[in-house]
Amino acid sequence: MPAIEIPETIVKKEFFLERIPKAPQGRYVHLVLVRETESFPIFQTDGSLNIAKVRAGLKEENNRNLTRLAMFKRKQSSPERLTGRELLRRFGITQNEDKEGEAYCDYNEQFCQQCPDCVYYGFAIGESGSEKSKVYVDTAFSITGYDESHHQFSFNALFERGNISQHGKFGSGFGEQDHIVPQVFFPGVVTIKDATVNSFVYVMNNVIRTKRYGAQNTRTGKMENHIVGLVFADGEIFSNLKLTQAVYDYMAKQGQLEETPLNRSNVLNAVKTAISPLLAEDGVSFQVVTDAPLLELVEMVKSVTTDETKLAAFLQEATEEAKEYSQRVIQKPKSSKKS
Ligand SMILES: [Zn+2]
Repeated sequence: MPAIEIPETIVKKEFFLERIPKAPQGRYVHLVLVRETESFPIFQTDGSLNIAKVRAGLKEENNRNLTRLAMFKRKQSSPERLTGRELLRRFGITQNEDKEGEAYCDYNEQFCQQCPDCVYYGFAIGESGSEKSKVYVDTAFSITGYDESHHQFSFNALFERGNISQHGKFGSGFGEQDHIVPQVFFPGVVTIKDATVNSFVYVMNNVIRTKRYGAQNTRTGKMENHIVGLVFADGEIFSNLKLTQAVYDYMAKQGQLEETPLNRSNVLNAVKTAISPLLAEDGVSFQVVTDAPLLELVEMVKSVTTDETKLAAFLQEATEEAKEYSQRVIQKPKSSKKS
């Protein structure tokens, strides 16, 4: 019996593949979510927060420019991958001790090429091989502008005697740093291509469990991901930018943008409302799951991933699926390709 069975009343069986195909089959599962800051994370490159000047909304009346905070791809996917990898290690699926074994897998150091993380999220190891990711994320943009979504903190690194300057010089730690403030919302989509039930649950579990984003150490901050909808489609759907702009249009019309932080339930409702009209422009055939059926499905996934025994069984099954794919597609001897 499979570790997880998704009721047909929520999602039709045909939206999931029995095994991971070698060639793309045009079966996409899109998780539509809202990432909400809960403390002061920093998403930056070269010392300043990542920002982008874009149109505020899609509608003519919101056609002005707005500088938004941006959350780049890897700022989203890396912490989520690490969450999954932590679980794989905890259940002894990828070992971090024995560097010799074939199951040894270390993010960006040594990809084993056969665990669920390597197979679902992909890897590149120089000349010796690569596997395309089956999980796509793209840059996400804040609904509100940079001006009302950040705060600059001054910090002083004290000299030993407790003063901030010595011989008229400030310590190297003296300066100012922009932080994103709590309750800034980044709508976004996480896409799983050629999804199986296992890859879907694996990715969803990572999204639900990951609570800390940002560069290593001192730059991280708490975030919470709210899953607002699932879209099962035969192709790619709208971008994160378009979603943020559609949400902006809707909230502007309702007069919900007057005050920051924005009201969370207004944001979640605006994202949900934006999904179907945007999909209508995408030219794909799709099924959307929101509200009660979504809640039921998320609870079902959680009932497995929060139960030690069930989680172990699920991860084992995902591992077998990844291994089977690895042997069939990744490890396949190159010489046999032509014959
Ligand atoms: Zn691996």
